[in-house]
Amino acid sequence: MNSTLNKFTDWEITEETSDPKVIKQNETLFSLSNGHIGTRGSIEEAGMTPTYSHSQGTYMNGFFETNPIIYGEWAYGYAKEHQTIIPLPDGKKMNILLDDEPFNLEAKKIINHKRKLNLKEGILYRSFNWKNQQNNQINVNIERFVSFDYPEIIAQRIEITPQQSNSSLRLVAVLDTLENISRILDKNEILDPRKKDQIKKSFESTIISNDQIKLLSLLTNNSNLRTIVGSVSKFNLGNGIYKSKDLTEEWTVETTKDKKIILERFVGYSSFFQGEEHIDKYSNKLNDTLSIINEMGYESLKKQHLNTMNNFWAKSDIQIEGDDKLQIGLRFNIFHLNQAAGRDGKTNISAKGITGEGYEGHYFWDTEMYMLPFFIYTQPDTAKKLLEYRHSILPNSRKRARELAIEKGALFPWRTINGEEASAYYPAGTAQFHINSDIAHGVYTYIKATGDQKFSYTKGLEILIETARFWTAYGHYDPRRNNAFVIDGVTGPDEYTAIVNNNFYTNLMAKHNLKYAIEIAREALKKNLSETNNMLNNINFNIDEIKVWEKAANAMFLPYDEETKLTMQDDSFFHLEVWNLDATPKDKYPLLLNYHPLTIYRHQVNKQPDTVLAQFMFSWEFDMEQKKRDYEYYEKISTHDSSLSRSIYSMMASEIDESEKAYNYFMDTALMDLTDMQSNTKDGVHAANMGGSWMSLVYGFSGMRLYDESLHFSPKLPKQWKKLVFKISYQDSLIEVMVTHAQTTYKLLYGPSLLIYHNDLEILVK
Ligand code: BGC
Repeated sequence: MNSTLNKFTDWEITEETSDPKVIKQNETLFSLSNGHIGTRGSIEEAGMTPTYSHSQGTYMNGFFETNPIIYGEWAYGYAKEHQTIIPLPDGKKMNILLDDEPFNLEAKKIINHKRKLNLKEGILYRSFNWKNQQNNQINVNIERFVSFDYPEIIAQRIEITPQQSNSSLRLVAVLDTLENISRILDKNEILDPRKKDQIKKSFESTIISNDQIKLLSLLTNNSNLRTIVGSVSKFNLGNGIYKSKDLTEEWTVETTKDKKIILERFVGYSSFFQGEEHIDKYSNKLNDTLSIINEMGYESLKKQHLNTMNNFWAKSDIQIEGDDKLQIGLRFNIFHLNQAAGRDGKTNISAKGITGEGYEGHYFWDTEMYMLPFFIYTQPDTAKKLLEYRHSILPNSRKRARELAIEKGALFPWRTINGEEASAYYPAGTAQFHINSDIAHGVYTYIKATGDQKFSYTKGLEILIETARFWTAYGHYDPRRNNAFVIDGVTGPDEYTAIVNNNFYTNLMAKHNLKYAIEIAREALKKNLSETNNMLNNINFNIDEIKVWEKAANAMFLPYDEETKLTMQDDSFFHLEVWNLDATPKDKYPLLLNYHPLTIYRHQVNKQPDTVLAQFMFSWEFDMEQKKRDYEYYEKISTHDSSLSRSIYSMMASEIDESEKAYNYFMDTALMDLTDMQSNTKDGVHAANMGGSWMSLVYGFSGMRLYDESLHFSPKLPKQWKKLVFKISYQDSLIEVMVTHAQTTYKLLYGPSLLIYHNDLEILVK
């Protein structure tokens, strides 16, 4: 699908067509969410005309259904249950009838049908003029947004201007309980592991209030999760006929030429919870919120929303001069990142944000490795909440480590919502033990970048200790390798190579994980705070553990081939046959959908960077020639079949002065969803890649790194651009970085002066 059919300005993406293909594609792109709920950018009457919709869901981050995973052959410790994000009652559905004739896009005589997503405002606009078969016309304007100020609320406003008097206009709004939701996946979709089994209704609902405010209590069939959904509407014309039956409401009026008919509608979704005894509490709270919002009205809620969005952009916008399409592409990515992040400490960021059902709404390493940097450096409060979620799943992660016969520490699940492992394919799932160090790295970076001591010496330290404990319990000293500390039977980030010994990335990250735990534990012991001591007592921490970690970190084995002077992806990688990518037909990509895993695993071929990612992570530890050699080698065997690939190749290309490559890889990452590059944007946005495009600018083209307790920059602006401007929040300061070809300027926007390094030169930003 060619999404250049959309039009772009600096802040707006506009669809000026009623072509179902474009409208379907934009169902993902125009999704609105706030970290708690998300609703796809479907047209209001999508239920009537399925050709215009791929899946019109509204979802809640963290609200999922479970089903047993059925294995042909089972083995001990396999993940037991699927966790799947599910569509919830959809309150945005709305039908318009003029003289009893229902409006839909298949009807004729629709003039100027237009939708536009304004990223600055976070509002989706729709407008059209429609003449029915009797040649009566209405002009319609619809607005929709998902509130950040009241995270439960989706707000809609419909304004209709009749072009004649005396016709009958009816508006029908439904809180749809999805009786007819089942959409069986088609033949190709079933075979795609990135999708889920079936899209179907997974809850029972009970109406608990059917007054002006409608409230519905939901209980999932298996996962035992509950939530309350409600709606309230406000109609501006008192002279109409109002009817309400169950969850459907209808307003009928006789039109007067040019007299506006306005419906404001608010749909609310409470937090999720367990236990029937809490229904009253959650429904009362949602009832109160809906009644406050209704009292306040759409315009006031919108005003607050615009203000909040403004504050968000003030810290998080990136400006690029020299390429307009790229500017909107970047803002689009930042916009969706902000929309995706759970902010309640019990949810995280799913691989598709809250924009679709791809990857079942699961959280992966994508969060810490690709998206967290954006939040740490622009919205640190949200970063903290994301890490608190990881802390909240420590109990399950400890259990998981025991299931894998690891006596100490915790093993975070590869993919999950509730903290239990949900990966049914362990070679590319559970075996990616590096998730532990990815999370530890997120914790450590957050601590260093924010100076948040409270988190550092309590929850943060607990995560660092439990992950460090895992590594020393999992690995061992190999007498045949001079007693180096080795880590066997793991899968690194490259999912086209599985269950290997001494994956370079895993070992290097584990080494740093151990060092992080040592450093923060030592600091905390010196502070001797009672909260820290309680936590340490609870997890039976013994000071001698530090020595155990130190010994392993110092002895960590890092595979290297002296003959070719290349870093080895793992112990056996270079012994495998090299996959001939040049001879692989285009329609055989992604390889995972066209070759048996065993065919893939016996070759040198990468789905995504592994060794190159490790070198990006700690680029200051490798010499330039080494990084260049490794880049050149691994790039040649890389398919980029994962959307997480190109951004890393872009950043490392900047690092090794391959400016052309840095630019080209970056352009692919920045516009991935707007151009549907992976051909699956309909299942949801590629959230990690969106984070990757932020990283490509900040870590790539401006070369930012955090080490030795300071920020280091080494900007390399692509020749295609004139200027790059972004902001970084670091400890108590906010700085603006402006890169041009002539110079880079660092400006302190607030907070204390900051010592940074520019191309290794010390600079005090004041
Ligand atoms: C990638 C993983 C990633 C997952 C979810 C897979 O295709 O290989 O690294 O975590 O997608 O985005």
